[in-house]
Amino acid sequence: MIATDMHVHSHFSSDSSELPENIILTAIQKGYSSIYFTDHHDIDFPVHPASPDMDFQLDFETYVPAILNLKDKYCGRIDVRLGVEQGICPETAPKLAALNEQYPFDFVIASSHLTSLHNGDLYYPEYYAGKTNVEAYREYFASEAENVLKTDSFDVYGHLDYAVRYCPDPQFVYHFEDYRDIFEVLLRRLIERGKGIEINTSGITKIGFPHPHIEALKMYRALGGEIITVGSDAHQCGNIGAGFEQAEELLVSLGFRYYTVFRERKAEFVKLSKII
Ligand SMILES: [Zn+2]
Ligand SMILES: [Zn+2]
Repeated sequence: MIATDMHVHSHFSSDSSELPENIILTAIQKGYSSIYFTDHHDIDFPVHPASPDMDFQLDFETYVPAILNLKDKYCGRIDVRLGVEQGICPETAPKLAALNEQYPFDFVIASSHLTSLHNGDLYYPEYYAGKTNVEAYREYFASEAENVLKTDSFDVYGHLDYAVRYCPDPQFVYHFEDYRDIFEVLLRRLIERGKGIEINTSGITKIGFPHPHIEALKMYRALGGEIITVGSDAHQCGNIGAGFEQAEELLVSLGFRYYTVFRERKAEFVKLSKII
């Protein structure tokens, strides 16, 4: 089994109320050897008037000592690792390094929740107004490819096709072929810079495939990508590790032999247990 979850949110994120200690106890119950806290910080996030509490600013001065205290408390039972999910867009990506160098992170996920500061979060339907869904998705993937040129201060790029989670048209079908050209640029740039991707299992239960799509995972492998982490994006304990069985089977079926964990920002490769 995959013995860790590398993408989990606690009450330090604007959109979670889960206690960090409950997350650790859940991970211990599941038999994990480690658990990663990756709370949200979206640099300069444009707060939406409908959700004034969702500012996605992480209080690092409280968060970092709290997680490090828990790391000490649970030492010997589970390895608690300090991470962060840094939301970036082309205007904010250059600010990432200054933030990440201040704290002793084990793991940094860079994610896109915006394509630019003025376009707003893809979570809200107005992002899609005035463009076709294909145009909206292409704009999103192109902004990710641009971000990779603007910072290297991260370990993996999170949920590469997050845009498809919130499309306001429930009938619209996401065909990977419509974006293959941009994905190839994006994945090549990540691989050339030694950056990984995550398989974010939240999609498996919500929309029937992980983030990114299976075709993107295949392309990543075909281009020589080897760094792949596994995370649930749980915002409550009940979702920790959800979809991991399917994710492991999928990775093996696509020819991956290892998943990756990070300690002190360094990659370690762990053999998938279904590999003989
Ligand atoms: Zn995210
Ligand atoms: Zn997340």
